[in-house]
Amino acid sequence: MTQKEFLDIVYCTMVVMRSLALVLALILCSIPPATAEETQQDDMSLSGLAQSLNATLEYDPLSHAGTITRAGHSVRFAVDVPYILLDWSAIKRVPSPYETEDSLRVKKEFTDVLREFFQAKPGASSKYSVKAIVVDPGHGGKDPGAIGEFGDFKLQEKDVNLAIAHRLTELLRIHYPDRTILLTRNDDSFPSLEQRVDMANTIRLGETEAILYISIHANASFNKNTRGFEVWYLNPDYRRTLVDEETAKEKGQDIAPIINTMLEEEFTTESIILAQKVYQRMGKMIGDDSPGRGIKAEEWFVVRNAKMPSILIEVGFVTNREEAFLLTQDAYLRRIADAIYNGVCDFIEHFEQ
Ligand SMILES: [Zn+2]
Repeated sequence: MTQKEFLDIVYCTMVVMRSLALVLALILCSIPPATAEETQQDDMSLSGLAQSLNATLEYDPLSHAGTITRAGHSVRFAVDVPYILLDWSAIKRVPSPYETEDSLRVKKEFTDVLREFFQAKPGASSKYSVKAIVVDPGHGGKDPGAIGEFGDFKLQEKDVNLAIAHRLTELLRIHYPDRTILLTRNDDSFPSLEQRVDMANTIRLGETEAILYISIHANASFNKNTRGFEVWYLNPDYRRTLVDEETAKEKGQDIAPIINTMLEEEFTTESIILAQKVYQRMGKMIGDDSPGRGIKAEEWFVVRNAKMPSILIEVGFVTNREEAFLLTQDAYLRRIADAIYNGVCDFIEHFEQ
């Protein structure tokens, strides 16, 4: 091999290697670094966050620091500083806000902390209101529900449910004359479960309006000694489909599950609070006669298909002789209705504070 041949080979190898390196670099550039992209997708602009919180954002580009204020409460932050100052007193560690070409952005953890902080502040809650209350006496008509049969008397769940629902509706209509109070059945008829839920779902709601759905039932057990009341709410693990197909098309298929999850979380929390308020009032009102068996979660059909904070109340066991006898007494049914009514009022007060 001559020296020229050798140099040619070296030169060719270099050209090939350089091309390879260029191709490799191009490939690497075209593949975005996956992890960075994913985490940034969840990030949001600080101005967007402030807007969604109904808060005011002030930012000084010289000091790279700013304040988010709402209803007299504030959060102080600075770019690339992993701490925020809450109400000028408490310090909290968060992922630091960062600057991009056109905005200030923050990570999900940051937004979570701010949401939690502002939500917990009195006078800073959202302007939500309860537009309608749907009272659903379980069963009816051909479907008696649970039956208690004893030597000297008999009772059917559907009648207990209807009596309580009537009284509850009456109280709600007096106390909330400007809200829609609906009964899914007014007499001994049998609307299907779908019809009951549909009735509630046809109420037109503004963006900040909610419907409460209260289903009233009585319980049965093979064990004649079992007695007591229960309040059920939607199981948080259950993934509801709250966003219908129309909305999904409108907003784009990929965003629908996100909206869905947000709505679901909100309604689950509210359902739990509604359940707690009613359960507490029932304990006060009938606890001496009937033990509270707890707040429970289940995927009840009636509850899970309703786009609203929903609970299902089991007012007592028709299969327990003493409790069944109480459930035949108008005065006792009124006490139950009054307890549910007070619980609903407590909830509305909390919800609209
Ligand atoms: Zn029932």
